[in-house]
Amino acid sequence: MSATKMEKKLFGTNGVRGIVGKDLTPDMVLAIGQSLGTMRKGRIAVGRDTRTSGEVFVKVIKAGLLASGCDIVDCGILPTPALQYIVKEYFDSGAMITASHNPPEYNGVKIIESDGTEMGDEETIRLEKIFFARSFLTQTWDKIGHEISAPHLLEQYINAITSKFPGKPGEGITVVVDPGSGPACITTPRILTEIGCKVITINGIMDGTFPGRLPEPSPEGLKNLADLVKTSGAAFGVAHDGDADRAVFIDENGQFVEENQEFALIARQICRNKQGIIVTPVSTGQIVEIIVRQENCSIKYTPVGSIYVARTMRTLTEKGESVIFGGEGNGGLIFPEHQFCRDGGMTAAMMVHILKSTGKPLSELIAQLPIRYIIKDKIATKNGIDLLKTVKSSYSKDIIDETDGVKIFKENMWALVRASGTEPIVRFIIDSDTKDKGIRFHKELKSYVEK
Ligand code: MG
Repeated sequence: MSATKMEKKLFGTNGVRGIVGKDLTPDMVLAIGQSLGTMRKGRIAVGRDTRTSGEVFVKVIKAGLLASGCDIVDCGILPTPALQYIVKEYFDSGAMITASHNPPEYNGVKIIESDGTEMGDEETIRLEKIFFARSFLTQTWDKIGHEISAPHLLEQYINAITSKFPGKPGEGITVVVDPGSGPACITTPRILTEIGCKVITINGIMDGTFPGRLPEPSPEGLKNLADLVKTSGAAFGVAHDGDADRAVFIDENGQFVEENQEFALIARQICRNKQGIIVTPVSTGQIVEIIVRQENCSIKYTPVGSIYVARTMRTLTEKGESVIFGGEGNGGLIFPEHQFCRDGGMTAAMMVHILKSTGKPLSELIAQLPIRYIIKDKIATKNGIDLLKTVKSSYSKDIIDETDGVKIFKENMWALVRASGTEPIVRFIIDSDTKDKGIRFHKELKSYVEK
């Protein structure tokens, strides 16, 4: 499987997503279920996050799958990585009803393959063809599927993580967990308690109206978590997005840990245990590559999107390469010894392990990392592709990488310019070793673009 991006009509980088009742309707999700059921045979595991619309969409996707002859295993409410783990271990395919970090009015569908990874572009395009042609397989009365319920499988997921951290490394460590009223309410506090931590929760009751904070774990939304970390004397705080495939951290002083720093810190720990390759998209902060090279490991870049990271990791592993870690600079990290998908619960447990094995507070570990300056910006344009060509020709004397968009390398600095696949905008990221250099490069790039 190549890690090259392919154009899709219905599915984005992370499945189908939209505003409920407007972009995402029950008949659409029914048709997605029928399309998946037409392509896949056997037992399909289905789950959802805590969104108020989740119950509707789970019912219709199950109806579509059953009508096309698949058997259903309903896993109830659970994190996306938990469903991915369960599918990998026991089932033929999966469907997760979730809109991840989007606000409460959104919902969506992620399709999971038998190995636990999200469906790749080629298969998704096949599914879209069936969807748009309405060429569903509709079974007769004697071939309709059956449904069983299997909420107990969540235990297998929790055990898979806790068994990787034997000897109660969390003893003496207090952690404040903010699952944001999402499905990690029933996993991350359990995982951390079982590895020995004292756990305090905030936003710890599942609620699809998200009364405490939005599903995106932004520094602004995590103010209550930060306050509670300080007043409780906890070692750190951890928060998840709406389906808990991402984890972000607050240090013991209540400071938000920037996600590329989080990635670099965990990468350093993993590289010190085992040499190998770290896989990440071209958009990830340079800090990760700096740390990985310092530890004599190597880095492999992919297009932007966790699926490209996960599939590249799997493909390299199948070729016999030592792939030790991967992920994105947004707190979505992949531990290949556990599974080839981002896992927020696993990331939280890994942070406990790091504090235990280094014996240092989180703020001190972060302060040891090199400092980088990141500028993010976007401009509205309908001609994103032409604009990228202009940028490329303007910097023809520099080293350019086109894994995804145009990445221009200068001394100790780069800029990534990408056209969005879903909106009429072009995004910029500039990553530099000094602030002034980054600001100058940003200005220069923007002037080319605005011309
Ligand atoms: Mg997510």
